[in-house]
Amino acid sequence: MAKYRLLLACAAAFISTFALGAEPAMRHVAAAGEKTPAAPKEPAITFSSVHVDGPYIAMTFDDGPSAVLTPKLLDLLAAHHIKATFFVIGENVAEHPEIVARAAREGHEIGNHSWSHPNLGKMSQESVRSQVQRTDDAIKSATGKPPALLRPPYGSITEREKRWIHDEFGYEIILWDVDPLDWKRPGPAVVRSRILKETRPGSIVLSHDIHPGTIEAMPSTLDELEAKGFKFVTVSELIGMATPVTPRPSPQQGGKAPLKAIPVVSPSPSPASSPSG
Ligand SMILES: [Zn+2]
Repeated sequence: MAKYRLLLACAAAFISTFALGAEPAMRHVAAAGEKTPAAPKEPAITFSSVHVDGPYIAMTFDDGPSAVLTPKLLDLLAAHHIKATFFVIGENVAEHPEIVARAAREGHEIGNHSWSHPNLGKMSQESVRSQVQRTDDAIKSATGKPPALLRPPYGSITEREKRWIHDEFGYEIILWDVDPLDWKRPGPAVVRSRILKETRPGSIVLSHDIHPGTIEAMPSTLDELEAKGFKFVTVSELIGMATPVTPRPSPQQGGKAPLKAIPVVSPSPSPASSPSG
């Protein structure tokens, strides 16, 4: 029985890793193919970036709130008039509800990042439900508003989990396309340069408001992003701005010259074992 369980867990981990890796390619094909126009297109529930018309991006901060660093970051965001998204851990919300309340009051979006940061892709449905529900409750109690987004810790979640969590909680599942690997604490200059190099319109930028170097990197990072013309919105606002991707004409159809395809998304899906997210 134990062996069987282990095998199941391994299979689940493999599937979740595969699903994450395969997702961008599949979306790309879906946008390009359109071979079965009769089939209704299922609305996307997972986003690692959003196709938008305009220089809009979403800054996201995970794993907080931190008693010291999150208020510092909130001060900075307020000074820049920037709205961000915080994917909070339930345990930390229970400890510092007033910080989460402040973030929500100041216009930031609060998303669910589980109760204690486990690997959801390797857990039973019952345990995942408890992780998500407790955090949903803690956020509601702190802000008076239910969250609309889930970011799975480590980006690890199975296709099946995405579906039932979406159905039960109404959440969109949010990953990212810009990852400065700030959890490795590479220093503020590296965090800044990675974000500046990878961010493009529609990007969802991942970082963590529990690392001093990340908070130290933010003043100049935000200055530079603003200088490049980027505009900051919450993740839900970014999703609300999604525009359809123009389908690629199929080479088989008629004599039209095939246009060069524009990549739909350019995510860097992290393996399930990555401490990112
Ligand atoms: Zn996390």
